Amino acid sequence: MTALVLDGKHCAAETETRLKAQVAELKSRTGGTPILATILVGGDPASATYVKMKGNACRRVGMDSMAIELPEQTTTDELLSQIETLNNNPDVHGILLQHPVPPQINERVCFDAIAAHKDVDGVTCLGFGRMAMQEPAYGAATPAGIMRLLENYDIDLEGRHVVVVGRSPILGKPMALMMLNANATVTICHSRTKNLPELVNQADVIVGAVGRPELIKASWIKDGAVVVDAGYHPGGVGDIELAPLLERASAYTPVPGGVGPMTINTLILQTLESGLKHLS
Ligand code: NAP
Repeated sequence: MTALVLDGKHCAAETETRLKAQVAELKSRTGGTPILATILVGGDPASATYVKMKGNACRRVGMDSMAIELPEQTTTDELLSQIETLNNNPDVHGILLQHPVPPQINERVCFDAIAAHKDVDGVTCLGFGRMAMQEPAYGAATPAGIMRLLENYDIDLEGRHVVVVGRSPILGKPMALMMLNANATVTICHSRTKNLPELVNQADVIVGAVGRPELIKASWIKDGAVVVDAGYHPGGVGDIELAPLLERASAYTPVPGGVGPMTINTLILQTLESGLKHLS
């Protein structure tokens, strides 16, 4: 068996073509342009690169971005004040607070200060709860991007056993709920899970979201599984040992070029959705 490549780069590029046309139409009809405000706190080079890539993606489809950079020693109150300013700015349609923030900041409090209608990265508790209850909300960008990618390739989830390894607020937890809402049977694993290889072996669809290079071994994964790897580590390695699976999986996300481009694409898609609501 040769596995189907779930090509996030291609899927994101195709979506961008459509988004570009929608942004142009919105501009010509209303004179307005959707704007994503990005907040970067501190000088972490990887975070700076991610923020830059998000701004570039906005520009590729004709949207604007407003880059706010705050010093490493920023306090929770200072960040909250910045978020409040953006919440009250009618020209801003989406707010992205780049994760992680420096340790002295209460990240959860700051995420939750983002107005629900501008939470285009899907990081607030309110947005999570609404998504979980299948009410309108912007989904967390990475798991929502994974769902879009699976849908793009007609990967059937109904009744299938999805094993999500990782339970972080922005990835593992919302991923599990999105899969549940798609009628999958879901198992969530984490650092205290005792029998990880056995549980992974039951997966029809395995989602790696652990942040540890190739922690999930190919030998644990059964033939014909769909393999989704959210991880990215230096050297183009993900959270799943992928190479031995290329002949055994039914489908897989490449690293890089799988989940990453869909995350950014979902962020700009949701910014445009917010812009359409507020500019139309
Ligand atoms: P995180 O906040 O560090 O969470 C990691 C999760 O993995 C935790 O729930 C942790 O369990 C679990 N875990 C750690 N070691 C484990 C082990 N030995 N066995 C089982 N579970 C274990 O990470 P994250 O932000 O969710 O990110 C996860 C991965 O996705 C990273 O590789 C990150 O780079 C990647 N990511 C990619 C994108 C993208 O756009 N492509 C976006 C975000 C994240 P506990 O809860 O018990 O600690």
